[in-house]
Amino acid sequence: MIGNDITHAALLLKAGEVVAIPTETVYGLAANAFNGNAVASIYRIKNRPQFNPLIIHTNSTEKLTEWGLQLPQPMQELLKHFSPGPLTYLIPSTPHIPEIVTAGTQAVAVRIPNHPITLQLLSTLDFPLAAPSANPSGYISPTTAVHVQTQLGHAIPYILDGGTCEVGIESTIISFLDNKPEILRYGGISKEKIEQIIGPINDKAIHLSTIIPAEKPLAPGMLTKHYAPLKPIFVGNIAQLLHDKDKKRVAVISFQSVYDNIPIENQFCLSVSGNLNEAAQNLFAAMRKAETLDIDCILAEIFPEKDIGRAINDRLMRASAKE
Ligand code: AMP
Ligand code: MG
Repeated sequence: MIGNDITHAALLLKAGEVVAIPTETVYGLAANAFNGNAVASIYRIKNRPQFNPLIIHTNSTEKLTEWGLQLPQPMQELLKHFSPGPLTYLIPSTPHIPEIVTAGTQAVAVRIPNHPITLQLLSTLDFPLAAPSANPSGYISPTTAVHVQTQLGHAIPYILDGGTCEVGIESTIISFLDNKPEILRYGGISKEKIEQIIGPINDKAIHLSTIIPAEKPLAPGMLTKHYAPLKPIFVGNIAQLLHDKDKKRVAVISFQSVYDNIPIENQFCLSVSGNLNEAAQNLFAAMRKAETLDIDCILAEIFPEKDIGRAINDRLMRASAKE
């Protein structure tokens, strides 16, 4: 059931149930992170491999310290600027956090999401919510309550509706496990913004310059398939891809361009004005619509490799990975 009753959602979560919640990034599939059985339900509902750990969400840094987590100095700086917000911090875990949340690692990923409804919900809870995206494992993340309902509505008692997600793409993940902080995943807060606060930062996320799929196939194992629509998706120069995919019926996901020789209803121009944030917000909904069309494949442009464009490219690359 979809609704906007925060009290009802809180009661269900306190009872160990799984509830879908809105965040500014994508919708999450949430459960009490301190309750191992509740968290196990998330893995079961999503069919998520148990080796893939979960991010825990709360509404204040005070709660993080109350639960025994140590917050490194540069993390505290970033928290001041970007929390609540789409930035996830990977730090050493505490015995409060069950192994199922951290997949048996000694580290836990924490985030304070920036969504008024979920912040209000979290303020009534004395436990954090473990919450991966509310989609079957490997598929496109949901950015509306209806997206969640379509796929997981039958498996969960409640979907808390918070409208369309404003950022539309997952959080940036930054690790504080080693001496130097490191970006592990591009997302809603850009590398550029992080560097303005804590200076140059290492980066384990995948660089576009190492993979140009249209011309050079991905090396096996470089990327794992993720965020993937049901139709094959190819990323690169559209003219080149159209040439390669001759006679195929295609949909196109572009940044600003409209292409002459493709039916207009098969084109998803993510930001006519060239705004990368708007493009990110529209990306996953466009992928979901494109796959329902009578087409053989989806072609997507490479976006400018800066700001949130890096995260858009990362998601498109992973969606197009072969396995
Ligand atoms: P999502 O599936 O969007 O919720 O993203 C969760 C991601 O956060 C995982 O796939 C990991 O990449 C990362 N993550 C969460 N917890 C940990 C952890 N304890 N150690 C390493 N990475 C983590
Ligand atoms: Mg996910």
